[in-house]
Amino acid sequence: MFDRVGAIFLDRDGVINQNRVDHVKNWDEFEFVPGALESIRGLTETGLPIFVVTNQAIVNRGHITVEALDDIHDRMLREIRRVGGEVTKVFYCPHDNHEHCACRKPEPGMLLQAASEFEIDLTKSYVVGDAWTDVAAAQAVGAQGILVMTGRGRWNFVSCWNRFGLDFSAACDLEDAVMMIKESLRGNLMASTARLRSAFHMALHPETSLVL
Ligand SMILES: [Mg+2]
Ligand SMILES: [Zn+2]
Repeated sequence: MFDRVGAIFLDRDGVINQNRVDHVKNWDEFEFVPGALESIRGLTETGLPIFVVTNQAIVNRGHITVEALDDIHDRMLREIRRVGGEVTKVFYCPHDNHEHCACRKPEPGMLLQAASEFEIDLTKSYVVGDAWTDVAAAQAVGAQGILVMTGRGRWNFVSCWNRFGLDFSAACDLEDAVMMIKESLRGNLMASTARLRSAFHMALHPETSLVL
């Protein structure tokens, strides 16, 4: 028996690229979150495989074709590669809520699919997202969920706090999450109360005025 390695799973919207109220439907609407490209390069240095796992219900709602979505992902991967990062594969769920599929987060289907396809140990894996559903998918398979405060993160912080208590990590953004993952890989504790407290403060006192 060989030891399976862990992996790093990244949510897309709100983590890698900016959220749009009307969703990202073509490359012109795809805008990288500042620092995201460099962060993915940093993650690549860990040697762990990186996957993107993204809910894209707009496919089955008829707002984007699979071809157009693939085109966005091809271009995204090209930009990531251009700065020296490497994403192994993009998994997306095309289903809408009412279809009750096994892959739409908070369901962990995409994580399980990656695990069987690439022989990943999910209990040694990390999931970075800006919604409680990302953290829930992580928890369902024993991975470490990290909520970032970019995208919808600030709105989701309280949901995570209520659902998971101290059992999740919070980071300012993907860059911060990468630091935490690297620390964790060196054997340092990640979900420390201090980190959560600072994230809690961030959520309640954002630079932009939001109502939680
Ligand atoms: Mg998201
Ligand atoms: Zn699905």
